[in-house]
Amino acid sequence: MTAAYDPQNIFAKILRGEIPAHRVYEDAHTLAFMDVMPQGEGHTLVIPKAPARGLLDASPESLAAVAATVQRVARAVKTAFAADGLTVFQYNEPAGGQTVFHLHVHILPRFDGVALGRHTGGMADGAVLADHAARVRAALDAG
Ligand code: AMP
Repeated sequence: MTAAYDPQNIFAKILRGEIPAHRVYEDAHTLAFMDVMPQGEGHTLVIPKAPARGLLDASPESLAAVAATVQRVARAVKTAFAADGLTVFQYNEPAGGQTVFHLHVHILPRFDGVALGRHTGGMADGAVLADHAARVRAALDAG
């Protein structure tokens, strides 16, 4: 049986403004921010505001809002980093590779011939993440 949603998870704390994040986009139903341990330059996460552990317990309405934001932010990320392509993925439960138990979708700009970095590797420099977030926000504003 799947565990219950824990409102003390780190993304719930980001949503409540209890801990900081390099935010790039927000609307009534979703939030997007930079991943602090990026698997590559421009690694961005999209989460619903409604509590859900993962894909299986989210409402269809929340998933639809997440999908729309993923597309919007993915376009901006691709532009901001002049990427050749994008990898978009989402993990469910520890067996599926999930480490933070609030539904999130990963968006990673990809470059021809460059391998994907390690999942939850090193912490990125805060100033670099702030710069990357500003680049994505600028691409969103321009789009
Ligand atoms: P997952 O394995 O899909 O649950 O991945 C969780 C992701 O959240 C990882 O890529 C982490 O680097 C990222 N992460 C963990 N804590 C934070 C945080 N405070 N702010 C932004 N990203 C985070």
